[in-house]
Amino acid sequence: MALCLKQVFNKDKTFRPRKKFEPGTQRFELYKKAQASLKSGLDLRTAVQLPPGENINDWIAVHVVDFFNRINLIYGTMAEFCTALSCPVMAGGLRYEYRWQDEHRYRRPAKLPAPQYMAMLMDWIETLINNEEIFPTRVGVPFPKNFQQVCTKILTRLFRVFVHVYIHHFDSIISLGAEAHVNTCYKHFYYFIREFSLVDHRELEPLREMTERICH
Ligand SMILES: [Zn+2]
Repeated sequence: MALCLKQVFNKDKTFRPRKKFEPGTQRFELYKKAQASLKSGLDLRTAVQLPPGENINDWIAVHVVDFFNRINLIYGTMAEFCTALSCPVMAGGLRYEYRWQDEHRYRRPAKLPAPQYMAMLMDWIETLINNEEIFPTRVGVPFPKNFQQVCTKILTRLFRVFVHVYIHHFDSIISLGAEAHVNTCYKHFYYFIREFSLVDHRELEPLREMTERICH
């Protein structure tokens, strides 16, 4: 866990407030349960399984928020190495290029420099997870019918952060001493999306070889 947090906090442009689980809420209890099973030494593959009696959407919500926080922090630590000059297009090597699309400014898929793509991505996720109609936090308020579809889209886009960071900024991960930390986060994320089949396997292709090496 050797991430340079000081560096992150100095970078107000890329470091944004994390979404917190409010103590006393059911979601907070579930978050603590997920954290506890991780700390107890359970292997990650087992730790992602839905605990008996828990609601799957609650479990997914807790993980989506947690992964957003962690991946946002990871990208924040290496954001200084990822500029419009070093990464004029959001890509994963020469074979994969990602275009940004949303319901506002970019209705048509747009080729953006990686840091701009990342900023759009993090803002977009932050808005969704803070939307009470999509991520309800009050007891008794149901999840929307398309909740898992929304989460699939969020997780698919978060996966691209790993793709870009691993393929284009692996040397920065090493120089920050963050390799073990990033790998652990990746493995946890990977087991989670596989456990609930949340991301299409074609999306995972850019990191397939690495995944086979570290996740099996
Ligand atoms: Zn980059």
